[in-house]
Amino acid sequence: MQLTKAEASLYAKYRGRDFIEDEQYWLDVFEVYKDKNVLLPVEHTNLNVLKLLKLFECEKCGECCKYKFVPVNAYDIKRLLDSGLDPEKLSDRDGQSYLSSENGCPFLKEGCSIYSHRPETCFVYPLQGPADAESGGKKIKQIRIRLKCRAALKLARKIIAQTMSQGDKLLLPDLTIIPK
Ligand code: SF4
Ligand code: SF4
Repeated sequence: MQLTKAEASLYAKYRGRDFIEDEQYWLDVFEVYKDKNVLLPVEHTNLNVLKLLKLFECEKCGECCKYKFVPVNAYDIKRLLDSGLDPEKLSDRDGQSYLSSENGCPFLKEGCSIYSHRPETCFVYPLQGPADAESGGKKIKQIRIRLKCRAALKLARKIIAQTMSQGDKLLLPDLTIIPK
């Protein structure tokens, strides 16, 4: 795997150290991976996603509603159109549909104005759709997390700490757990 300069210096700084409880390590991870998707050591199933979401403590700052494009799937579109969405608020790019606006999501008012109909991506945020991975020689789908905010970082830490067994090592830069 090709490391970025920032990943390489993170690796050099923490290589061989037991850093899972090290606050500075997590602050450094946040600097390097802020607003990027990071793979979590958990297989992607709907049940796992729902279980992990229960651990999330969102601070409701609204920052994640300020992306220019919010991806929506066919079910989201149908649900949103049925509840009165103006089709003008939808756009398409490379075969993917989005809610789009220059200033972030068009439904961000004082909080989300379509909260009970919000798209799946908003419902599961900061968790993200599955990514291809390998475990024990088997191809699997793993959960990813968007490290947008400190709350998302806190969730990633909780998940990683729960998934590790005593003596396991956390491998930089992609937070892979190496069993003891
Ligand atoms: S997920 Fe994070 S960025 Fe989004 S509202 Fe919650 S705390 Fe803010
Ligand atoms: S639909 Fe609601 S939760 Fe989703 S980005 Fe827009 S304002 Fe935020």
